[in-house]
Amino acid sequence: MDPVLAIDGGAKSVTRQFPWPVYDSREVDAVAEIVRSGKWGNPDCGDEVAKFEKAFARYCGSKYAITCVNGSVSLRLALIACGLKPGDEVIVPPYTFITTASSVIECNCVPVFVDIDPDTYNISPAAIEAAITERTKVIIPVHFGGQACDMEAIMDIADRHGLKVIEDAAHAHGAEYKGKKLGTIGHVGSFSFQSSKNLTSGEGGIVITDDDDLYAMMHSLRNVGRIEGGQWYDHYNPGCNYRITQMQAVLLSHQLERLDGQTKKRNENGLYLNDLLKNIKGITPLHRGEEITLHCYHIYIFKYDASEFGGLPKDKFAEMLAAEGIPSFKGYPHPLYKQPLFQNRNFMCYAIPETVDYSRVVCPVAEQACSTDAVWILQHAMLGEKEDMEAFAGAILKIQQAVAAIAGN
Ligand SMILES: *Cc1c(COP(=O)(O)O)cnc(C)c1O
Repeated sequence: MDPVLAIDGGAKSVTRQFPWPVYDSREVDAVAEIVRSGKWGNPDCGDEVAKFEKAFARYCGSKYAITCVNGSVSLRLALIACGLKPGDEVIVPPYTFITTASSVIECNCVPVFVDIDPDTYNISPAAIEAAITERTKVIIPVHFGGQACDMEAIMDIADRHGLKVIEDAAHAHGAEYKGKKLGTIGHVGSFSFQSSKNLTSGEGGIVITDDDDLYAMMHSLRNVGRIEGGQWYDHYNPGCNYRITQMQAVLLSHQLERLDGQTKKRNENGLYLNDLLKNIKGITPLHRGEEITLHCYHIYIFKYDASEFGGLPKDKFAEMLAAEGIPSFKGYPHPLYKQPLFQNRNFMCYAIPETVDYSRVVCPVAEQACSTDAVWILQHAMLGEKEDMEAFAGAILKIQQAVAAIAGN
């Protein structure tokens, strides 16, 4: 008897839940204490935000950290501080969340999409090199899913061409490249604390840097253009109020204490799942090189080959896998440049040169990842036990057997 798939009413392969966010009375009490204190805001009433910023900078090994309202604004702070002028080009991958690229538009600059590497789904250094023009000013590598980009190659390109590097580390809190925390290798590291992220306060973001000038500008932009030591009603730069609250800061301080343990667990589970999945025909985990000394698996990604699953389309496979009780997803439906924003040039008040035409952009690897190859398992599932990883592999095999039975093999 072949097992009945959960999507067809059969028993689920995984019945336990994977709670996220993880918290206990420490978070509840800390937030309650701030509420009772009446000191909710920042920076005028209380030091919880500054305390968290210091702790996060120390954790990463960077000189400065500046919190802000989310991981999209954090990119904008970094971009503006890099001294971009309208029409400058910023190189970004197409396989990422929208704001990696739309934050560039919001600076009146041009996102230039270059393809990803088929083995890692991270931005390809060779493709970066090929896309550089005299207008290129910044590269935004995204450590996709928490897997470090090829930072040595990227920093080498940036040094040779005099470019700034903003690491979009929204997926990569605590992850490492050659023993160094992600976000500390480029000129600025940008993180999100949105609810799905590995370190969260519901919403929030942060930038880290070692550079005194970038720090001063990002700090000013976050705080309506005020400068440190300046008067409350004196505004020097075109910033906004991007500050977080004391409630968010105490949540983050407690969540940060949990981060190392959680990252270690996801890393171990990821390595184990790699071993389990590489034995299944048609399933290939992304390549993880030696330089990835710590992976935080914000997303565990494997490549799916429908030909080993009776031609079952990826979207259907992903639906079946989710129905089996695994927090999983087919991922982005298309690369970013296919979004209506770019295809229709809905740039509104932003001054993007008329010559920029995204209908001509093609990044074949990203397109294939979206349409047929990539399947995501989400980070909270990677906090499970070894038996859960075995159950994930078991669910994939169950689907493979069921579709083979239907195909009559
Ligand atoms: C989540 C995310 C962002 C944006 O963060 P928000 O806090 O949601 O604004 C930016 N880049 C990547 C890669 C992300 O996944």
